[in-house]
Amino acid sequence: MKSDIRVCSAPDDQHDRPVYTLSRTCPVCGAEAVNSAPAPVDPADPHGEYRRSLKRWRRQ
Ligand SMILES: [Zn+2]
Repeated sequence: MKSDIRVCSAPDDQHDRPVYTLSRTCPVCGAEAVNSAPAPVDPADPHGEYRRSLKRWRRQ
């Protein structure tokens, strides 16, 4: 089964975390939502979101 889940294509700083949607546009910022199967939004730092939240979590 092919997934229809899309992810907002807006730059990394637009959202705190990837915005997933079933529609063709982001429900938050209105940017185009792309299929989530291809590469992440920021290929240079695919785990940036995870790493930042981990850092935040460790500080507490
Ligand atoms: Zn968005």
